[in-house]
Amino acid sequence: MSELLKLQDKHRQEIKELQENCKHEGETGWLQYFWAPGHWNGSYVKQCLKCGKTFEYKSSSGNEVSTFIFNDDEVSLKFSRKD
Ligand SMILES: [Zn+2]
Repeated sequence: MSELLKLQDKHRQEIKELQENCKHEGETGWLQYFWAPGHWNGSYVKQCLKCGKTFEYKSSSGNEVSTFIFNDDEVSLKFSRKD
């Protein structure tokens, strides 16, 4: 394994441990979610201010808004209508 891949694996593991041990005491408001730099697809996320873990993901299509809520071991989904 190259040195670069070793560093990337180490960094991913450190972030995973930070997110697993974080108490998630603060969260952002709705942030635009960019799937690539400069490419916003109209969806939003809420993340922990300390560890960056995503709590909620919101996308909209037509008159319906879908929100995914991330808990420790499960993801729930709710729908609502736009006015
Ligand atoms: Zn956190």
